[in-house]
This record gives sequence, structure tokens and C-alpha cells, in this order.
Amino acid sequence: MIIKLKSTVSPEQAQTLAKEYQAFLLFDGAQTLVTGSALKELPTALESLTEQYWVFANDMQLSSRKYRQETREISFGKTVIGGKTKHTVLIGGPCSVESESQINSAAQLLVKLGLNTLRGGAYKPRTSPYSFQGLGLAGLQLLAKMREAYGLTVITEARDATHIDEIIEYTDVIQIGAKAMYDQGILRACAKIKKPVLIKRGFGTTLQELVQAAEFILSGGNPNVMLCERGIRTFETGTRFTLDLCGVAWLQEHTNLPIVLDPSHAMGYAYGVPSLAKACVAMGIDGLLIETHPNPSVAKSDASQQLTYEAFETLYNELKPIAQAVGFTLV
Ligand code: PEP
Ligand code: MN
Repeated sequence: MIIKLKSTVSPEQAQTLAKEYQAFLLFDGAQTLVTGSALKELPTALESLTEQYWVFANDMQLSSRKYRQETREISFGKTVIGGKTKHTVLIGGPCSVESESQINSAAQLLVKLGLNTLRGGAYKPRTSPYSFQGLGLAGLQLLAKMREAYGLTVITEARDATHIDEIIEYTDVIQIGAKAMYDQGILRACAKIKKPVLIKRGFGTTLQELVQAAEFILSGGNPNVMLCERGIRTFETGTRFTLDLCGVAWLQEHTNLPIVLDPSHAMGYAYGVPSLAKACVAMGIDGLLIETHPNPSVAKSDASQQLTYEAFETLYNELKPIAQAVGFTLV
């Protein structure tokens, strides 16, 4: 249940109530208590202190359109996503930060196209310990240098809670990867800050579990959460994963969080990424994440799925009219 308290309730009283009802206390326009969804009736003692309250069928609460009809608007750097913007934010960049020249070349491509948001991983959550694990702190420093030189917004991922403070300090948006989205250390650290967070759906994660991961961050007081569909595991082995567009429609219908789609990881092969990206943009989405590399065949991670810069530019030009046709602008 979400309970918006009257403005006459003092902060001390609100804290006492939060303790009594084992609720999260956050400020969302007014002092707000959030309990589990098992509470179905407003306690009598709270009646005179309550401005408005919402009852939910399950623990999709703060993220629910039932609580907040409008999609949340989130800003990072020059980028604004969600809300009334009708922006589809095209997020480009390599899977991993590999070198200064590589990350600068990606920045130059985005600047040339008038795009604002670069994503690159420094701490990579790999499936094998023998694969490239990312440049770590040196990678974060290259991203910071790139931001200084080109003015782009940086998104980078948190692999585990070990380096979370470092990542929070360096990045504009924290990406929580598909394998890391259950990590309580990351979720709780992201709840304590206001920096935007992009949570990628695990490949065996239900939509309900995905929104509950978001609720960890929202209930802790960080309202800036975006969700990312990046493919789920099905019986099919011809493609890396299966992009769940039904799931996207469900998230758009039921949640108030901006939705980013990642066809690169879903497909796993560059040849399918452009047509999937077009299908994604045609759904009227808030963001699109496309991996691109100056020479994909030698990329240190996700080599098979990254687009060349030429292919990225062609795709950008093809996506523009599709976004426009559904009332969105590619930014
Ligand atoms: C990535 O974004 O490069 C990545 C590792 O993705 P995911 O967490 O979706 O597998
Ligand atoms: Mn990748």
C-alpha cells in the first residue's frame, strides 16, 4: 500500500508511523509511506493522517501506472527520457571500453549524428573467467575523459557491489546488468542515491521480478529508474536470446518507468540488429541501446553483435522516420 500523508504530519511523526507499520518513508510530493502489498485496508489509526492511499494486487507499487499514470521523466546530462518528451534516446557505444582511441572514436560518431548518450562497460560481468573482464577503474577514467572532451552522457555498468561507489562516482547513469539485477548490494546502493539507474532484465526473469528489482530502488528513495528488455532465454538456440516484445507491451501498459530496448544482446548477431531495432522504435519506446565498435571482429566482448560505425549511421538514418511515424523523436 502507498499512503500519502497529510502535510500536517510532522517528519518525526511520519518516522514513527514508518517504524510502526514497517513501511518505507520517502518524499514524493508529500511524505509517503510504502508498505508491502499484503496490506489491503488503511489502518483506522491512519485515517485522519492520510491524504490519499493506493492498494495493489502485488508488489508492483511505486512503479505502477495505478499509482502514477504518467511515465516518469528522467534527466541525465543533456538527455531527457520519458515523461511527456516522446523521445527515443538512442544510446550507442561499445560493449567494453577497450582503449582511449576506441572510446573517442565512438564519441565522435555520436557527436556527428547529434546524439548525447554513450554507453561502455568497464567492469564486465562475463560468463567465463577467461574472457576479457573489462579495464576496471582505468576504463571509468577513460569514460570520464571522453565526457570532458565531448560533453556526452556516460552509462556504465555495475558488475557487483564491490566497485559500486567508484561506478556511482564516475557515471551519469548506472546500468545494472542482466546477471547483476538480483544483487542486493547494488540495488540497495542505487536506492540511496538520485542518479538514474537502468536495470536490465535477467534472461530468466519474469516481468513481475523485474519490476520488484526496480521497487528496491524506488522504495529506498531513488525515483529515477528505467527498465531494459534485452532478450530472455527460450528453447531457441539459433539466436542468442529472444527479444520479448510482448513483455515490453506489458511494461508499457502497467508500469510508469521509461523502457529501453536492447536488440543487440537479444539477437547476438549484427545481421539481425537493424531490423529488430526498427521493430522496437515502432513500438514507441523511450530508449534504444545499440552496441557499436570501430572494428567489431576484434572486439574484446560481444564481437558478433556489434555494428560497424557505418552500419550504426545507416541505422540511425533509417530509424528517424520510423520514430517520427509513431510520434517520437530520436535523440
Ligand atoms: C552489456 O550490456 O554489455 C551486457 C553485459 O548486457 P547484459 O547484462 O544484458 O547481458
Ligand atoms: Mn555487451
